[in-house]
Amino acid sequence: MTFPLKSRFAPSPTGLIHFGNVRTALFNALLARKQNGTFLLRIEDTDAARSREEYITALQEDLEWLELGWQEGEGAGGAFGPYRQSERDPIYEKHLAMLEEAGRVYPCFCTALELEVSRKTQAASGKPPRYSGKCAHLKADEIESKKNEGLPYTLRFRMPKRESIIFEDLVRGNQHFPSDEIGDFIVRRSDGTFAFFYVNALDDALMQVTHVLRGEDHLTNTPRQIAILNALSMPIPQYGHISLIVDGNGAPLSKRSGSLSVQELREMGYFPIAVNNYLARLGHHYLENHLLEFDELARDFTIDNLGKAPARYDRTQLDHWQSQALQKTDSNALAAWLGQSVSKWVPDADLERFADAVRDNILFPHDAEIWAEAIYSDSLPMSPDALKVIEETPSSFFREAASSLTSGLDFKEFTQRVKEKTGAQGKKLFLPLRSALTGQTHGPEMPRVLPLIGFDRAKHRLMQHVLSEDIC
Ligand code: GLU
Repeated sequence: MTFPLKSRFAPSPTGLIHFGNVRTALFNALLARKQNGTFLLRIEDTDAARSREEYITALQEDLEWLELGWQEGEGAGGAFGPYRQSERDPIYEKHLAMLEEAGRVYPCFCTALELEVSRKTQAASGKPPRYSGKCAHLKADEIESKKNEGLPYTLRFRMPKRESIIFEDLVRGNQHFPSDEIGDFIVRRSDGTFAFFYVNALDDALMQVTHVLRGEDHLTNTPRQIAILNALSMPIPQYGHISLIVDGNGAPLSKRSGSLSVQELREMGYFPIAVNNYLARLGHHYLENHLLEFDELARDFTIDNLGKAPARYDRTQLDHWQSQALQKTDSNALAAWLGQSVSKWVPDADLERFADAVRDNILFPHDAEIWAEAIYSDSLPMSPDALKVIEETPSSFFREAASSLTSGLDFKEFTQRVKEKTGAQGKKLFLPLRSALTGQTHGPEMPRVLPLIGFDRAKHRLMQHVLSEDIC
């Protein structure tokens, strides 16, 4: 029986989600959207000491903010819950009993010290660390008596011997792992908690996940997971291991090298569509170079376009998409986005026009503060460059400018009049006007800015630079 495509995101809620893991969520969500499939969210909170409820809430908010809504999982429902691993112990026990019954797991009484010694011996002879198999053949009565002694034990999965575990990775192609190099591994720890390999593989199969796109750091886990599913005669999803994200030095992206959490991105004022356009291109090639809506990102998402080489994080690229998103946002939404950051200066009635005036000059809401002040302040701060321009301009220029200004005049007509009266043109015309009117030598387009400054304020600002002897 074939199932419709189902992809999933299976985060461990031990911290806020960052670029790397949210990109994994994005790729899986895009794949499901493209194929009209289901995107499932499973919370892998088996590490009780490090998992926190607040991180679960935060990651759900982050996914929703990025339009990565899930169709199956907590809050969305589904036939295969519960969707938190911490609530699935009876399911894990049941399947473990099946594995035990089939002789595919066995108790291991080796102590931490014994295992450490064995690892060191193997390392000394240049071998990869692998369980020696010491407890693999204990007899039933030996097991019984050790258990009766109260010795703690783990449960180990018995890897098949002299087999090759072969699978076709969606990204990295044919993969081949000799089973003997893996060794028997722990599926349940001595404290009764379950190991990642086991619960992750089992849940994918039970939840009928068909596609798993995840970080390449999980590639070597996959043969173990396939072996478990084979032992249970359960379906194996198609795995695709995506390249890691690295910083400018080629090292895995970390907080220190600039990785930001989704929460930080949101607080800074990044648009979700900008983040998605950036992340979707980080390790995935798109033909289109312009900003794509979520559905378009999904339409053009192709597993074949996932790269094998590490993807390099570049903040300037992220900011490029932010500026593209700013261009596309309508005035109303832009005004709401600017919100509090400029409310001190900008009257509500002007907010949309103000937003349109500054959209080319900002990346984040707080970038707009300087322009709000430049337009609305009664005690206009002057940049050193603007002061210099004003000093180099005769006072009579400002007198003529002030007298040319009439209520309702647009900037083009205004500059035309000033040009006729003073003979100034080009930079000599525009720079002194901009400097006197905004206190800056650069900034948003003056035709948009002048109406916001308004007649009275503009006149006052120009008159401030007219020397008393020039006032006629
Ligand atoms: N909980 C695992 C992680 O966050 C999931 C890995 C996977 O996607 O299979 O790394």
